[in-house]
Amino acid sequence: MRRQFDCIVIGGGYFGCSIAYHLSKAGKATALIEQKEIASGASGANFGCVQVQDSNMGMSLTLTLRGIERMRTMGQELQADIGFEPFGSLIVAEDAAQLQELENLYQQKKEAGLDIDWLSAAQVLRAEPNLAPKRILAATRYTQAKIYPFHYMYALVKKAREQGLTLMEHTPAASLWMEGGTCKGVILCSGEALRAEQTIVSAGSWTREFCQTAGLDVPVYSVKAEAFVTEPLKPFLNNFYSSAGFFTEAHGQEAAATSLCIHQSHHGNILIGETAKPDGRAELAYADMSSVEHCAHIHALLTRYFPALEQVQVLRSWVTRSPYTESCQPVFGPSSVEGLILAAGFKSAAILSPVVGDIVAQLVVKGKAGVDLSEFIYV
Ligand SMILES: Cc1cc2nc3c(=O)[nH]c(=O)nc-3n(C[C@H](O)[C@H](O)[C@H](O)COP(=O)(O)OP(=O)(O)OC[C@H]3O[C@@H](n4cnc5c(N)ncnc54)[C@H](O)[C@@H]3O)c2cc1C
Repeated sequence: MRRQFDCIVIGGGYFGCSIAYHLSKAGKATALIEQKEIASGASGANFGCVQVQDSNMGMSLTLTLRGIERMRTMGQELQADIGFEPFGSLIVAEDAAQLQELENLYQQKKEAGLDIDWLSAAQVLRAEPNLAPKRILAATRYTQAKIYPFHYMYALVKKAREQGLTLMEHTPAASLWMEGGTCKGVILCSGEALRAEQTIVSAGSWTREFCQTAGLDVPVYSVKAEAFVTEPLKPFLNNFYSSAGFFTEAHGQEAAATSLCIHQSHHGNILIGETAKPDGRAELAYADMSSVEHCAHIHALLTRYFPALEQVQVLRSWVTRSPYTESCQPVFGPSSVEGLILAAGFKSAAILSPVVGDIVAQLVVKGKAGVDLSEFIYV
């Protein structure tokens, strides 16, 4: 007998887990389909920063501010310790071009009402005493938060299962099931067809190739992104430190780019990212391995900006496919195909995930989003 659901969600990352949680909370019979395990894509590679500062303007900022409020109480809502903790964020200008760009972003965010601070080089050094002197020009600072990413995603899925979710891990979906131009569900690689009123594709970097099975060209691309984690240290960083270069260079299409972002986890480990390289330019045979250029570039940046970390022990490196879109806007909302909703290509995941889950549930239950999604990419 053919299995039938109200909703099928493809992809068990931040967005798929949250969408599955909100749909099951709304009483919808939902299946979450993940080709590997929960958080095995980009969501398992991330640092757990609940990022406000790097939001786009407009509706993205509105949703981001809603997201931080939601994250404050998500632990209680999920009855789980997700490690939510207020934590500062610095976006740092390291050269004149970045300074100009950062000033523009600062003005825009101030005008939009964000309570963001401008720090001189001396103030940044006071905020981060381990930063090498005379290396940076200025920074913007905002108090945002951090979480334990895996605890959060597992808690979403646990609660969703209590609400009736059918979780299907190690279950790759082969294609969308199309009939007369309408999406009727998905066909699994096993050959089984699963029927649903609504199918939600939140497959991160895989969204484009998956939606091609229905003839849709969804402009979500990906980079090979690389990061490291070190042994735990005593308190070393007071803020999440991110180079302003990340926003101007890191996701360029032409070559690999390394820009320093570094964060101290709840347990003291230093998370160090990242080198990003467009997928088409990464050698296929080494697609899931750390590259020599990443090690060399990160070493050079660390010794330049945080020389005390030069001798620190690196425990592990990892690589992931990280999704992005050229306009930095997500593909989010109902699509041109009846029965198909898309939610992929978001810049920040932790903060937006509860809001995106809520909006998708409203789309399914009420037939409308409750907010204007027209700024986002429509396919
Ligand atoms: C080093 C690094 C650090 C980062 N730090 C942060 C941070 O601190 N805070 C933050 O908010 N963001 C951070 N990000 C960005 C964040 O990780 C991503 O934006 C986010 O993980 C994207 O989530 P997603 O659910 O869209 O995609 P993914 O997590 O990639 O999930 C998509 C899932 O779909 C599954 N899938 C794909 N195709 C199929 C199929 N056919 N059938 C079944 N399943 C399928 C995949 O296996 C995958 O699990 C960071 C990124 C990197 C690389």
